Amino acid sequence: MRAIDEIIVHCTATPEGRNISVEDITRWHIDRGFTTIGYHYVVLLDGTIERGRPEEQVGAHCKGHNSRSIGVAYVGGCDKAMRPKDTRTVRQRASLRHLLKELKAKYPTASIHGHNEFAEKACPSFDVKKMIKEIRL
Ligand SMILES: [Zn+2]
Repeated sequence: MRAIDEIIVHCTATPEGRNISVEDITRWHIDRGFTTIGYHYVVLLDGTIERGRPEEQVGAHCKGHNSRSIGVAYVGGCDKAMRPKDTRTVRQRASLRHLLKELKAKYPTASIHGHNEFAEKACPSFDVKKMIKEIRL
């Protein structure tokens, strides 16, 4: 296994309530020239956690941070007019907390960040620092 020192949270930048699957994201990322989906995990609207790229493989989700990180995305992150919005459902919030706790247990020295800490983007449309404080990670 490669060394992991960051866990980076994303949104799929899709409108609120639109159900997106791992297959959809895989197709978009292949269209963008990636070999497969760029994220390692995706949290669907109903809270289901799906696997994307295997953890052993370097992801394609955060420029300059891919080699030593895990990328996690929740479906949503925009309102109907495509403006950034925290659209996480109650189930997505619970699953995201659960997933981040598991990853943190597996990679205790890794720190958790929002994509917006490393790029001029709104992604993931919520304050990750505040969330990890609330869930004590
Ligand atoms: Zn992102």
